[in-house]
Amino acid sequence: MDSEKEEAPVNWVATILFLVTGSIALIVVPAYGFMYGFDLFEWLTFAAFLFFSGTGITAGYHRLWAHNAYEAHPIVKYWLAFWGAASVQNSILVWASGHRTHHRYVDSKEKDPYSINRGFWFAHLGWMVRHYESSQEDFSNAKDLQRDKVVMLQHNHYLKFVFASTILLPMILGFLNGDVWGTLLLAGFFRLFLNHHFTFFINSLCHMWGKQPYTDTNTAKDNPVLALFTYGEGYHNFHHFFQTDYRNGVRWWQIDPTKWLINFWSRIGLAKNLRRTPAFKIREAMVKMQFQRAETSLQKVSNTADNSWKTVMENEYRQFLATMDEWTQLRGEWMKKQRENLTQKRESLMAKFDTSTVKSRFKELEYALRLQQDRLKQFNRMLATA
Ligand SMILES: [Zn+2]
Ligand SMILES: [Zn+2]
Repeated sequence: MDSEKEEAPVNWVATILFLVTGSIALIVVPAYGFMYGFDLFEWLTFAAFLFFSGTGITAGYHRLWAHNAYEAHPIVKYWLAFWGAASVQNSILVWASGHRTHHRYVDSKEKDPYSINRGFWFAHLGWMVRHYESSQEDFSNAKDLQRDKVVMLQHNHYLKFVFASTILLPMILGFLNGDVWGTLLLAGFFRLFLNHHFTFFINSLCHMWGKQPYTDTNTAKDNPVLALFTYGEGYHNFHHFFQTDYRNGVRWWQIDPTKWLINFWSRIGLAKNLRRTPAFKIREAMVKMQFQRAETSLQKVSNTADNSWKTVMENEYRQFLATMDEWTQLRGEWMKKQRENLTQKRESLMAKFDTSTVKSRFKELEYALRLQQDRLKQFNRMLATA
């Protein structure tokens, strides 16, 4: 197998952490539950800790710090730094820097710190239990984070954050409830075990299992089942293509609790400048993928298929590209007009008139694109059954 895998020295801190939390979660917790039982308070604390630490990673470590997908109020930042630490996945700085490397070199066996091309186990957990070269700490891609006070505070006092959130807080809550150990075991250890593996699914299963509606240039997949366990991060194909978007499940109906949480914060003034990919960019990516798929299926059945299909489909695609061009151009004009509106008040009446014309044409083209996309989809389906 991989020679580096044999040679890289064991990371004992991580190895012992996973062994200890794993055995407590799988042996001690069930034994304790069998002997003493867990009460409602303990289960509710467990659920709250699971959600807070999970979203500490997804809304905090990942979308806020690794990708700058929105700006958060200091209250939210401290909250996320605290609960992110409860996930015991290293400091924000280390995590976000490694994650930026993952995006930049995704799937590279040498450079992607959790490359799926080194196997499920490596991407899930193996990459952390040895000191691999691919996961050496180097913060040259995280200078912005080194200027962030909250990030540096958490980085410099990381173990205190971990102790306070994972050990001390469950013990205090348990003490108040009359059973220190029950709360510590459930909200501290069992929660951490689940929290770890739910997050690790994003690096392992989300690069193996699911669909690729936006790009097939990397292994990331969209998977609604995994989104349930990962607070929305299961829409990983979208995320790898549009990484600065604060949403991973971009459609309104896609389960993405992290997106809802950030949205909620923005409504009450705790988050702002939520970054969204323009809808036409998303559609462009989808149509391109559909065309590519149709082309591949056409090639497969080229001997038996009616050649006119190919002509029709190619015409559709050409039409789509032309619409796309026109749209992009109009959009540019529209945005220019909007800028002029701000600077040239005298011409504002004229500009406003122009803007509305462009706007309605823009809407028309958007509709035309949607129809073309539907037709391409139908072609793909027809070809799949041919
Ligand atoms: Zn990924
Ligand atoms: Zn990411």
